[in-house]
Amino acid sequence: MRAFNLEDVRKKQFNKYISEDRRLRIKTYTFNALFSSITEYLTVLGILLVLGLGGYFAIIKGTMTGGAVVAFYTFLGFLYNPIVRLSSTTSIIESGLSSITRIYKVLDTVPTPPEKENPLVPVDRAKGEINFKDVTFFYDGAEKPAVQNINLTIKAGSTLALVGTSGGGKSTIISLITRFYDPTSGELFLDEIDLKEYELQWLRMNISLVLQEGFLFWGTIRENIRYGRLSATDAEVEKAAELAFAKEFIDELPNGFDTPLGERGISLSGGQKQRIAIARAILKNAPILILDEATSALDNESEVKIQKAMEQLSTDRTTIVIAHRLSTIRKADKIIVMKDGQIIECGSHNELIEKAGEYYRLH
Ligand code: ADP
Ligand code: MG
Repeated sequence: MRAFNLEDVRKKQFNKYISEDRRLRIKTYTFNALFSSITEYLTVLGILLVLGLGGYFAIIKGTMTGGAVVAFYTFLGFLYNPIVRLSSTTSIIESGLSSITRIYKVLDTVPTPPEKENPLVPVDRAKGEINFKDVTFFYDGAEKPAVQNINLTIKAGSTLALVGTSGGGKSTIISLITRFYDPTSGELFLDEIDLKEYELQWLRMNISLVLQEGFLFWGTIRENIRYGRLSATDAEVEKAAELAFAKEFIDELPNGFDTPLGERGISLSGGQKQRIAIARAILKNAPILILDEATSALDNESEVKIQKAMEQLSTDRTTIVIAHRLSTIRKADKIIVMKDGQIIECGSHNELIEKAGEYYRLH
């Protein structure tokens, strides 16, 4: 959610449910408090009344037998029990309230890392130049750094491909750019200003993420694409889907763009999910694009289409791609090969092939 700048939207939706729920609970709660005190009063009042009137009729007037009074008193006891039990439902409600408190605690979790007090919110969108200056990062409690002494410049509008074996530090580089984490040491700049200076929301508005398998939310296909830009019209949503080569399969679905996704919805193939994620990114139109190419094999047709869609998307944007496909890597302006958290090779495809080093061996 955080990555897609949707915390607020989803929080609002959730808050609506929560406040409705809370309203009802408070109502029940108040009713119960009132009810149990009334029951208490009635119990005492009832006993006094039965004993008083019973005594009056049995002893003074003689119209009732003592047995009848006792029987009446006993039956009254039977009646009290269920009434008292009703008011004890409060405890069940209390346990409900405590779980709500727990849910709130999760929702209130401070995003890590925290935002600066008076963060910078540039009027313009980012140009998209990214600079790593001697960046080292340790995950919490890790003994060795996930990335180490990274020095790297990604020019605005250029494409950088990250390659290397698993555990090399590629995903960590991306997590630092999106500010899921801050460097343990060193500095990271966007347009020559430290990343920490910017407002997080502004930063994430300027970054589109297309992750492996695409990340889908609960909701319809239309809603899923619209999360790229909430103000987009239906026509814009459909146009984005078309550019992402997603419209063609969406139109085949019985409910088209209004088909629900998620647990209760239909399931899409990996390639279809990715195309929805691409459509969302097209709609968002952010100056920085981060792609995590799917490692799993897609069917050939999907593959070609996704490739085309991604190429369109990356034009004129700073693009950082964790690349698994040779075709993507070849087109990159710069390739870095990562191993054990370090950049071991850097250059264009031709340069690195000529070098006949690690990159050459990877192919
Ligand atoms: P890659 O994406 O190239 O496979 P990663 O950036 O995911 O590499 O991982 C780099 C190193 O950081 C690895 O040693 C990995 O085990 C470690 N690492 C990755 N994510 C976490 C995490 N959330 N907590 C602790 N260690 C992590
Ligand atoms: Mg990874």
